[in-house]
Amino acid sequence: MLHKKEDFEASNIPEEFYSPMPAGYRIGQTKYIVITGSVISGIGKGTISSTLAKLLHDRKMKVEPMKLEAYLNVDAGTLNPFRHGEVFVLDDGTETDLDLGTYERLLDKSFTKDNFVTSGRIYSQIIEKERAGKYLGKDVQFIPHVTGEIKLAVRNLAVKTGADVILIEIGGTVGDYENMFAMEALRELSYEEGKENVCFINVTYILEPGSLGEQKSKAAQLGIKALMEIGIQPDVIVCRSESPIGQSVKEKISLHANVSLRRVFGVHDIKNIYLLPLDLRDEGFDDAVCEILNIKEKFHIEGNGSLQIWNDKMNVDEKEPEIVIGIAGKYLGASDTYASITKSLEHCSFFYKKNIKIKWIDTAEIERGTISVQGSLNNVHGLIVPGGFGSRGVEGKISCIKYCRENNIPFLGLCYGFQLALVEYARNVCELEGAHTAEIDPHTRYNVIDILPEQKSVKGFGGSMRLGGKDVFIKPGTIARRIHNSAIIRRRFRHRYECNPEFIETFEKKGMVFSGCDEPGKIMQILEIPNHRFFMAAQFHPEFTSRPGKPDEIFLEFVRKAGESKEIELALSYKLA
Ligand code: GLN
Repeated sequence: MLHKKEDFEASNIPEEFYSPMPAGYRIGQTKYIVITGSVISGIGKGTISSTLAKLLHDRKMKVEPMKLEAYLNVDAGTLNPFRHGEVFVLDDGTETDLDLGTYERLLDKSFTKDNFVTSGRIYSQIIEKERAGKYLGKDVQFIPHVTGEIKLAVRNLAVKTGADVILIEIGGTVGDYENMFAMEALRELSYEEGKENVCFINVTYILEPGSLGEQKSKAAQLGIKALMEIGIQPDVIVCRSESPIGQSVKEKISLHANVSLRRVFGVHDIKNIYLLPLDLRDEGFDDAVCEILNIKEKFHIEGNGSLQIWNDKMNVDEKEPEIVIGIAGKYLGASDTYASITKSLEHCSFFYKKNIKIKWIDTAEIERGTISVQGSLNNVHGLIVPGGFGSRGVEGKISCIKYCRENNIPFLGLCYGFQLALVEYARNVCELEGAHTAEIDPHTRYNVIDILPEQKSVKGFGGSMRLGGKDVFIKPGTIARRIHNSAIIRRRFRHRYECNPEFIETFEKKGMVFSGCDEPGKIMQILEIPNHRFFMAAQFHPEFTSRPGKPDEIFLEFVRKAGESKEIELALSYKLA
């Protein structure tokens, strides 16, 4: 190692480095793994990262992930889910991208804003510091100041969490203009921390053009070369590909990347990514990383650890019957838009050992009249109306909800789905003609959904909704109470509007039951219709806290009822109170 530990402690840091260290930080106490991507994005860098996190967690390490996003948005809340996938909400209210959801699910842990850093946030912190005169007369530069703040964010996470390992995933691919400073910051981190404390993994892509019928490694070689040009020598390469990669491709990558053959891994497309941890352990993936970081003995593992049991749980026989769940939404081009919902259904599928097929229903098409409500819901055993914003597809969603209510088809409404279920009920059961949410029709006479009082004075869009984990108080004697078997649950919210308290009584008189609310009893948070097979909606997002092995209770009951409608006998090891 070039530096002694003392070089980076307290006052010994060379001035030109601008490498502020949090109080109590000690070099060598936390190990770092940096994951970059090359060639193209969207090849599952997040899946590889979270799989590695799972493998290390299984070795009893305290693992903390950190997603370093290159974009200038301060958080992911203002991103279009159609382009970027869903906005995932952490318990502390941070709006992140879906990768944080993957980490939470695989590690069965909740993370915080410290685990999600964007260039936008770093830059705004720097500008704030500059205005406060904290840079002591210096000209503030990308290097060392931006890189210094990134390193500080990484080391702050180390100190705050006491992690054994921090796994840093850099968004985008090598060669992107935006993430260059993140790459540079982590190169500096490795220089300062010493080689045995930082492991670089590059996830690359092996092309297989149909016209050639063979795998080509040139693009991967060039991608890795671009990484080396900025001073990062990868320690491990993961080659993503459509079909298993051949030995000669591995050899070429090894030679061009300076990485020994046994540290070049192949991960081809598979159907069930839950089986990836064990596959990669068999290949020696986590052993290789631990070797590089010199922690193989400290975090020794016997055989497969818990992964065989995990594999047995996260699997359903293809021959098992299929429950068809409709999801009525508008962002249907990319299924990542509803990633946590599809994952929550997957958790139920593993729980009951039954297959679940999703039928996407584009409610904008229903409005246009290109498809009918009945045609869309034909053969659907249960319907989910997910969260959303704005007017597109709303009337189509309301028609689908009406159809489910009237035809006794299991229905689950989530956030906007909760609000639209009330709009439907107001119009068709309470006879409040033209009832609507004020989000769409601010002048409606029957504003059964209206803006939350606390939201009235909010200006702008970023991070300003009612966000994050909050307690939900569940009424005794309700279905919600029976399935949760608890009087208080904590769930995550992301909304500006609510059931207008002025209409609660009207709804209740007509048979609607509000089975969950906030502590003062002002904000309605769960609704149910008692004599329906299953009609429940939540103002919160149960999908953000459902975990493999621990599916959310509302999802479980919804899927059970949907399964019953097909007369499928679900394994009822799930105990009802
Ligand atoms: N648009 C609704 C609101 O702001 C619902 C939000 C959501 O579904 N996440 O209250």
